[in-house]
Amino acid sequence: MNVKQSVIAMSCAVLLAGCQSVSATGTRTLATFSVDNTQCYDRKAQSSYFAVDSHHHFQPFRGDAVPFDKLVTWAERVGVVFINVYGIGQTYERKPDCFGERGCYSQLISPSIQNDFKNASNYLKYGADNVHITLSMTFADLHKPETILPKMALLEDEFGDLFRWMGEVNLVKAAHFGNGHQAVDKETIAKWQPFMAVLEEKRIPLALHADLGDNNTPLKYLPLLEEVLKRYPENDIIWMHMGISKELSQIDPELHINTMERLFSQYKNLKADLSWRILYDYYFSDPKIQGQYVEFINAHAERFLPGSDFVASKSKRFFDYLEEVDINSRILASLDDNAFRRIALGQNYFSLLDLPYRAPEICIITSP
Ligand SMILES: [Zn+2]
Repeated sequence: MNVKQSVIAMSCAVLLAGCQSVSATGTRTLATFSVDNTQCYDRKAQSSYFAVDSHHHFQPFRGDAVPFDKLVTWAERVGVVFINVYGIGQTYERKPDCFGERGCYSQLISPSIQNDFKNASNYLKYGADNVHITLSMTFADLHKPETILPKMALLEDEFGDLFRWMGEVNLVKAAHFGNGHQAVDKETIAKWQPFMAVLEEKRIPLALHADLGDNNTPLKYLPLLEEVLKRYPENDIIWMHMGISKELSQIDPELHINTMERLFSQYKNLKADLSWRILYDYYFSDPKIQGQYVEFINAHAERFLPGSDFVASKSKRFFDYLEEVDINSRILASLDDNAFRRIALGQNYFSLLDLPYRAPEICIITSP
């Protein structure tokens, strides 16, 4: 362990009782994921944290962000070597003629292309030598599909084909109902066709925040997600947080898993993301419930992506990111080797984006 790693491990032990294997993460580099790498991955000795953070908000809902280069360094320190760089789906609107931060934001929230520009400009300015970055378009207002292609063209004019992902964008997010957001209706989903055709042609996945429902009506919004899946069967759709939200803290895991089971068998274009600590807080922290999900994820290992759902508002520190990576990785440690390799070590992510990387094989340890 070098000095840097031991400092991380020590601080981690002080800060988080459950923090695991951080000392081993420093051994992961982009070379670990080279197609020529023949070294196997030893799960007993190496980190069980995800190597791919496919859900990382480099821009906050309001105000300044942690600097880009710092976020990249933080990822490196915890052994995350692939990042999907998100802006944020909706930002609080600034009041006109108000300068500074305090009191300058209204309670209204709306999509903005500014944070995509900031991320791409920072990427061009700072680069990321040791971490692979995928830029994501978060500007898309799914209520106004006619605005999406012109804005995609704007980003392309400015940044070429740097943007290879769209999301996290909001189909329905109850947490923002009080801020002027409402669910996108079926008639509007039908009008997505032109931009969905371009995403399909360019093989750009669409990452949707789509609440499944709330504690009173757990499957309330499912018809909206299914409308998207039915209408656009050739688009790669990633379902954020498996539809779980703060408003859905108590769905019966069996109902949730059976619903996903049906969706996976009916819609081959659907994948799910395992990000956001509420999945752990509400569900996976109960060993029995975690066991149900582990079994389900193992059985559908090719359908899942890992991530932190970290939101980089400027008050955040390295240990905040470490904590999110730690908590969102806990379930990964219990997966079987195939699922761990596909999800935590990124094989699903590489296949989805056609990236020239390969997750290492898992070492087979035979007892003496
Ligand atoms: Zn998110």
